[in-house]
Amino acid sequence: MNRTLGRIPFSETLKYTQLAQKMIEQGKDIVRLTAGEPDFNTPDAVIEAAYVAMKKGMTKYTNSSGIEDLRVGISKMLQKYGVQYKPEEIVVSNGGKHALFNALYVLTNPGDSVAVITPDWVSYLSQIAICGCQAVKIPTLFEEDFYPSPQTIREHLTPETKVLIINSPNNPTGAVYSKELLEEIARIAIEKDLWVISDEVYANLVYDGEHTSISTFPGMRERTVVINAFSKSHAMTGWRCGYSAAPVAVTKEIGKLQSHMTSNINAPTQKAALKALDVDTHEMFDEFKKRRDFICSQLKQIGFSFVYPKGAFYVFMDFNPYMASFKDDDELAQKIITDFGVAMIPGSAFHAPGFLRMSYASSIEDLKKAAARLERFLREYRR
Ligand code: GLU
Repeated sequence: MNRTLGRIPFSETLKYTQLAQKMIEQGKDIVRLTAGEPDFNTPDAVIEAAYVAMKKGMTKYTNSSGIEDLRVGISKMLQKYGVQYKPEEIVVSNGGKHALFNALYVLTNPGDSVAVITPDWVSYLSQIAICGCQAVKIPTLFEEDFYPSPQTIREHLTPETKVLIINSPNNPTGAVYSKELLEEIARIAIEKDLWVISDEVYANLVYDGEHTSISTFPGMRERTVVINAFSKSHAMTGWRCGYSAAPVAVTKEIGKLQSHMTSNINAPTQKAALKALDVDTHEMFDEFKKRRDFICSQLKQIGFSFVYPKGAFYVFMDFNPYMASFKDDDELAQKIITDFGVAMIPGSAFHAPGFLRMSYASSIEDLKKAAARLERFLREYRR
């Protein structure tokens, strides 16, 4: 069997989500704040569009990189962030995760190194390993609000580093990179001749400040692959629709890879995504912001430390002061699920042990319940 897979774990975000789900099905009272998944249903108009499409015969193979009208729509939508890729520079894939893997595979050769800024999303390192590459972890500090210092980035790059992955708004920290920081990173990428994979899945969920894509800086369009998806922005996690936007030579290879691996993503989903581009999501945005404000004020009042998240829908909570009572944060997360009924993801899944990630894409009622339960945890474990 494959030796690389033998070395990498199952996705921790999915493991904990499935564990919590199973406990709920067994009748346990668990508040599930694990996977980042909006609790809203997909907008009706989007569901309707898929249904109508199927009735009209949209049940066959399509262009393996995605139907033309969806790629045109995505290309137009990206322009609202100043991101300039033509329809023929877009490939529609089975979620952001698949688009990311396609990009990594196309941009690397086995033995290359790929730089990742930690804490980082759960699947980056595993995907890098599957591609036969080495990951270089560039650390950020809680004390510096998890923003990378350009100097630290430089220090970690080697001649073997071919790709840098950045993720703003960030999962799990909620950090939103400023224009100035992105400009610095762009300068480094150009100087070191790096490709940048810019995971912008939370682009439309910035509550303070605004989203900037690194692809918009001079000289960056031609060395950036932008990854995005409909999952978080349109409550469409289960539909599996993401995409890459990249210069034509890269897109051609991504399209080739996908033509051998999956062909097109399912046909009605593509029509649903096309409709989603016209749907107003500001109510969901307002609700997420309300939840962010609510849970952060609760957690602060109780006495937790965290960096106030500016985007996405996670709070990355510092549990280091309580770690003396636990072997590791996996044991801590298990304890909080079983004894306190709150399911969250251990920070080690994001290569930042001693933290727990809470997703606040859940109702205020659930968040209220979680805060009360976590207060009980603190009463028991605070020294
Ligand atoms: N991206 C989400 C998260 O970080 C969904 C789970 C996953 O795909 O890993 O929770």
